[in-house]
Amino acid sequence: MRIAVLSDIHSNLPALDAILAHLGPVEAVWHLGDVVGYGPDPDRVVARLAEIGAIGVRGNHDAAAIGGPEIEWFNPEARAAIEWTRDTISRATHAWLAALPETRVIDDHTLVHGSPRDPLREYVTSLAAARAAFADVTTPHALHGHTHVPIGFTLEAPGNVAAVLPEDGATLDYTGRRAFLNPGSVGQPRDGVPAASGMILDTDAASATWHRVAYDIESVQRAMRTAGLPSRLADRLSFGV
Ligand code: ZN
Repeated sequence: MRIAVLSDIHSNLPALDAILAHLGPVEAVWHLGDVVGYGPDPDRVVARLAEIGAIGVRGNHDAAAIGGPEIEWFNPEARAAIEWTRDTISRATHAWLAALPETRVIDDHTLVHGSPRDPLREYVTSLAAARAAFADVTTPHALHGHTHVPIGFTLEAPGNVAAVLPEDGATLDYTGRRAFLNPGSVGQPRDGVPAASGMILDTDAASATWHRVAYDIESVQRAMRTAGLPSRLADRLSFGV
């Protein structure tokens, strides 16, 4: 099965539409949370995901947007954006976000935003944290986001985890191994590349391919400024940080 895996869309509709078009026809779209927060289009992003039948999990920004205490961990700019999001979203968006589980198992894959042991908080950036993630799921493979940096971890042997930092077009063939994969961020990449990031998972071939696509960043920045969102959140989109 050919699946589009997306994470950290962050209310950025031009980035979402660009990556969906770039990834082409798929049999399913899975998302790994932080659908909203930071960006100017929460309702339209949720409507698009609902329209295409995307299924996924809740991120910390999604939890905060529907009134969760997660807002207390946010820096002032992220907090301002979430307060704006809380005041802006429709009841339908609120209900869609509220229905997202923190963890979802689909066939051979466990989906989380952060990590299996702490789905809303932990950033998996180390081999040690990835090793723990493999131990904490019952499925062969798992998918995560939250760091906004594309990465692929594989379990090469018991206790031995390898990592790849994939560039645009890179494919990881994990045949015979377990994989814990991060597609990067659609709407606010932080690996120094401003292009939207996404991943195609081919479950028959046991492979993942990462993709980057340019989108109209300036239109999003204009919408953010018009909405009164913090200007630094708009500026950073130009740099992918
Ligand atoms: Zn995020």
